[in-house]
Amino acid sequence: MALPVIVKKIEEISGLPEEDLELLKKVEDKYPFLSNEYYLSLIDWEDENDPIRRIIIPDLHELDPRGDLDPSGESEITVVRGIQHKYGPTALMIVSESCGGVCRYCFRKRIFLDTESETIDDFPEAMDYIKSNPKISNVLLTGGDPLFLATVKLQHIISKLREIPHVKIIRIGSRMPAFNPRRILDDPSLLEMIKKYSTKDKRIYIMTHFSHPRELTDLAVDAAASLLSAGAILANQTPILRGVNDNPDVLSELFTKLAETGIPPYYVFQCRPTIGNSHFSVPIEETYEILRQAREKCSGLAKRAKFIMSHKTGKIEILAVDENFTYMKYHQAADIADNERFMVFKKNPKGYWLEDYGGSFLKS
Ligand code: SF4
Repeated sequence: MALPVIVKKIEEISGLPEEDLELLKKVEDKYPFLSNEYYLSLIDWEDENDPIRRIIIPDLHELDPRGDLDPSGESEITVVRGIQHKYGPTALMIVSESCGGVCRYCFRKRIFLDTESETIDDFPEAMDYIKSNPKISNVLLTGGDPLFLATVKLQHIISKLREIPHVKIIRIGSRMPAFNPRRILDDPSLLEMIKKYSTKDKRIYIMTHFSHPRELTDLAVDAAASLLSAGAILANQTPILRGVNDNPDVLSELFTKLAETGIPPYYVFQCRPTIGNSHFSVPIEETYEILRQAREKCSGLAKRAKFIMSHKTGKIEILAVDENFTYMKYHQAADIADNERFMVFKKNPKGYWLEDYGGSFLKS
C-alpha cells in the first residue's frame, strides 16, 4: 500500500473554484494548510457545507481576530519546555509540532505559527522532571501529532518512559487514524512497538480524534483494529463544532460507530475560544441540548462521553441544563481545593465559556 500524497498548498486542490482560491490564500498565509489526498477524497465537493471540507479547508472567518492563541493557559502550566503539568497524576509531553493535516479549529494552532517552539528540546531534562515527580502515573504524548514522528523516535521516548516505575499509563493523542490510517496499517514496527510496551498492567492508550462519522472509513476502522490487536486501548475525544458535528443525528452516528469499532467516546469538548475559531463555536447550553438528543439515540456504550470545558482552572463537566439553571462540576481542577466542586449558574444562552457565566454564580 502506498502512503497518501501530502497536499501542502490549497492551489493543489482540484475541487476549489479559482475565485475562492485567491481569497483563501489570505487565510493560508496566516494559518498554514496541510492535508493529504486520502483525507481530501472524503470531501463531497458538490456540497459547499460539507463537514469534512469545513474541518480541513481554510475559511475567511478565520481572519476574525477574536479569541486567544492559548485559550487554556498552557503557558502557565509549562514546567520545563515541552512538559505541561496541571493535574497531579498526569503530565503532557509536547513531542511533535506537525500533524497529518491541520484542523482549521485547532486550539493549539500557535504551534504552527512562527512563534517560539514548544516541543521538548532537552529530553534528559524533561525525563528528569517526570522521574522526580512520583505522583505522575500518566504521561500524555501530544503535539502536534506524536504519530507524525518516525516510529524509531517515538519508540525511544516510550522506552525511556517505561524505565520510570511510577509511569503506568502512556497516552498517545493522535488524529492520524482519521487523517492517514495508512500511517498505522503500513508500519508493522509501530504495531510491534505497541505490542512490546502496552503490557497487561501498563497500557498504552491511543486517544483518537474522530470528529465526524465519515472519518470512520473502512481504512480507519482497520487501523483501529490493528491498534487494538497490538494491545493498545483506544478512546475518542472531539470538540463540538458548528457545521461539522453540531447535530444529534451526526453525533449519535459518530458515537455509535466509535463504540462498534471498539473506541469508547471519552470526552466531548466545548470548542475553546481560540483565535480564528469563532465560526466553529456553539453556545454551551445549545451543545448540551444537542448532546442530550444524541444520547437518546445511543446505547449505553455509545453515550459514555463526558461534556467538558477545558478551562485554565480545570476540566469542568457540564452536567445538566434545566429551565433556569446550568449545572457544572470540576472533573479535574488545577487547584485541588476546586476538585469535584459543584456549581450552579443562571442560564445564559449566549454562554460559550466559563467567564460568560461570571456574574451569575449561585452555589458551590
Ligand atoms: S491533529 Fe490535533 S494538534 Fe493537529 S491540527 Fe488537528 S487538532 Fe491541532
